[in-house]
Amino acid sequence: MNVSIIGTGYVGLVTGVSLAAAGHHVVCVGRKQEKVREINAGTAPFYEPGLDDILRRVIAKRRFTASVELSQSIISSDATIVAVGTPTVDSAIDLSQVKEVARQIGEALYQKRSYHIVAVKSTVVPGTTESVVRPILMNASGKSAGEVGLCMNPEFLREGNALEDALYPDRIVIGTSDSKSARMYAKLFSNNTCPIIFTNLPTAEMSKYVANILLATLVSFSSEIGTLAAQAPGVDVADVWRIVHADSRWSPMVKGKRVTAGIVNYVRTGCGYGGSCLPKDTKALLHYANQKRVSMPMLTSTIAVNDQQPKELVKLLSDSVGDLRGKRIAVLGLTFKPLTDDIRKSPALTVVGELVKRGAQVVCHDPQIPASKKPEELHALTVTIAKEYWDALEDADAAVLLTAWDIYTKILPQEFLRRMKSPIVVDGRRVYDPSTFIKAGIRYAAVGLAR
Ligand code: NAD
Repeated sequence: MNVSIIGTGYVGLVTGVSLAAAGHHVVCVGRKQEKVREINAGTAPFYEPGLDDILRRVIAKRRFTASVELSQSIISSDATIVAVGTPTVDSAIDLSQVKEVARQIGEALYQKRSYHIVAVKSTVVPGTTESVVRPILMNASGKSAGEVGLCMNPEFLREGNALEDALYPDRIVIGTSDSKSARMYAKLFSNNTCPIIFTNLPTAEMSKYVANILLATLVSFSSEIGTLAAQAPGVDVADVWRIVHADSRWSPMVKGKRVTAGIVNYVRTGCGYGGSCLPKDTKALLHYANQKRVSMPMLTSTIAVNDQQPKELVKLLSDSVGDLRGKRIAVLGLTFKPLTDDIRKSPALTVVGELVKRGAQVVCHDPQIPASKKPEELHALTVTIAKEYWDALEDADAAVLLTAWDIYTKILPQEFLRRMKSPIVVDGRRVYDPSTFIKAGIRYAAVGLAR
């Protein structure tokens, strides 16, 4: 099939190259000429493991291009996928990008004669595709229902694992209100062996929120248990989770071998959830529930606990260091998780902001955040970005680990002792062994570990 995708962000680009790899002809439409040029030269505008390789392969096979020509790209395709951003503004979903794109697609379709499918992939609250996208699209295109098919195809990819998730998804969800568009849109996935779940539009929309909010709930539950464990002398939450995870419902025996389910990663105490999805999706669904006059105490608490969790890290630091004013604090990790360069709503931003507010001298390091390119999110803060993690540790009064990047997990206690002014290490991800660190002479503190 010929496919146009609006949006060249994580979802648009990853979806585009995966569909091109499956044999379709794809045009990804972006807004900035410079970004489009970069993509056409085989370099993704963000870091995602393996993406540049597959991008170059599909470009070489002439199955993929990026373009700023929205109208022509739509007219020359059979289906258009909407993969633009849906941020929250004042805790409510901001549909301005979706609305603008619906109008642009409609205007382009005004000039097209043959049947066309429009699929919303952006995460949108239930009812959006039917009540917001459809009227704009139909008005602008002047088409009748039989001439344009409308689908909702939520995306479940995880940054850092996005290619595998897009190439080999667990399930494909296609929400529609007519069987013709469902049948035709499903052809895009004829190479996939996973189940295709057909449903109506609002159920498809809701399923994405529920999948994300369940993960957020597990993370906040784990944060809350960590806060209690820290006040329960002798309790180590890392061991508690190891014991819980050993339940065969979390880690079943498969062919005589213990297999740990991926969901287990959300059931351990850390810095809380971040990134471009869980923080905004939890808030958007809560706002939607409020509009429906449905109270959601669990979701409300999930958000409140998560807002608090980065502050627990600052508390651990100030309990260990004392007054933070003038103290040099090394921050290891800025991204919301390893294997991405995404720092949107990362817990590290709250920690860094709070440290600066308390007068600390903050030196950050992250393997995906170059020292020469201070991220926009940190512009207003007086912080230094170190080129190497050891530069951040040099002469530091304390170090706090916020992202479990592999290189940090390999730092030995001796290196902290050698480089730092005082060997205080706060482990926000429970990657170090407390007894090894304490025995080596580190003043070790961690989430969920009683003092
Ligand atoms: P993103 O912000 O990285 O990318 C969106 C892109 O759309 C931006 O580059 C923006 O410039 C572009 N855009 C907006 N309007 C446009 C227009 N009129 N023409 C051309 N381009 C336009 O967002 P993302 O992370 O890719 O997420 C996109 C959607 O998918 C969101 O609704 C998000 O919630 C959802 N989602 C994201 C992920 C993820 O891990 N990032 C996973 C699943 C679902």
